[in-house]
Amino acid sequence: MIELTRERLTEALAELIRIPSINPDLVPGADGERKIAEAIAARLRRTLGIIVELQDAGGGRPNVIASVGDGPGRTLMLNGHTDTVGVVGMKAPFEPRVADGRLHGRGSSDMKNALAAMLVLLEEVARAGDFPGRLVATFVVDEEYASIGTQAICREIDRWRPDAALVLEQTNLDVGVAHKGFVWAEIVTHGRAAHGSRFRDGVDAIAHMGRVLVALEQLGRDLIARPPHPRVGPPSIHASLISGGQELSSYPEECHVFIERRTIPGETAEQVRDELQAILDQMAAADPSFRATLQMGLVRQPFEVAEDAPIVRTLARAAEAERGVAPKFVGWAGWMDSAFLSAAGVPTAIFGASGDGAHALEEWADLDSLEALGRVLVRVAYDFCGA
Ligand SMILES: [Zn+2]
Repeated sequence: MIELTRERLTEALAELIRIPSINPDLVPGADGERKIAEAIAARLRRTLGIIVELQDAGGGRPNVIASVGDGPGRTLMLNGHTDTVGVVGMKAPFEPRVADGRLHGRGSSDMKNALAAMLVLLEEVARAGDFPGRLVATFVVDEEYASIGTQAICREIDRWRPDAALVLEQTNLDVGVAHKGFVWAEIVTHGRAAHGSRFRDGVDAIAHMGRVLVALEQLGRDLIARPPHPRVGPPSIHASLISGGQELSSYPEECHVFIERRTIPGETAEQVRDELQAILDQMAAADPSFRATLQMGLVRQPFEVAEDAPIVRTLARAAEAERGVAPKFVGWAGWMDSAFLSAAGVPTAIFGASGDGAHALEEWADLDSLEALGRVLVRVAYDFCGA
């Protein structure tokens, strides 16, 4: 079986850290992903048998899609994002340094370590030849902001028809099978503007929003008391932004609140909307002067994969062979690109190495676990695609 050596993985990871790829929508004026995409494409093109293309995910921001193998077996898609968060306050974010088995630098654990594993895996599979199926590695832009990269892949998913996908975010070698989603919404209470002295004419939209906030707080308590999802816990809701009124001496015409509702697998945006609308309807029924409108915003679906799906079983077996004990099945409160792949009909699991400091001032990847990730990926690639 092929081997992804620590030396090759470390060298590939260091090469990637040296190329800044801060998300330009997070940090205006930042480099973006073009340079790193071009470096990844150039590197992969040096190995015979790897087919490489750049795909514009929007705004000239390129995904790299690389495939290897044309065996009759299954197709496995690997997903890793090339963008990182910003580096304000970091000492030498783009100078990789190794200390105590850790490689430090921005993006080292989120998630250039996984990109390094994808690169070396493709190179070794191509060199070995005779792969039983097909591996499609997608190096996508913009996961840290709006996920335009994985969405662009999903729009053209029929070109590759993957039988499964792995999103290689950090899991500490546990098997990721679920994460929460979220829904944004705006509620506007409509009052009636009037001179501040004219209490008979004015309707105070801000005071009416106060009632809404009290109800939302109660809804929040109810949500976290619901039966939790076994991997991700209960749903939740909170207010995020609020504004209202025109000036100090007038009754406020409107008050706006933006809220975020975290959803668990099984919940839909329609359910969330109905829940919120019911609160507003109840208030309007109780007080004819109360008027509010609800506008739904961005929806990111929760994610869950069946724990007996072939990719999950193959991955769990490979992780167990590596670790000597069965891996845990885990879920996250945060959101990941896996939801898009799953919604596109691709059975998807999440698996990655260890590290720390994603989005923090000191970020590092654990090199032992990167090696372990390499071994698990080799096993999964041959087992899954050869089945
Ligand atoms: Zn990430």
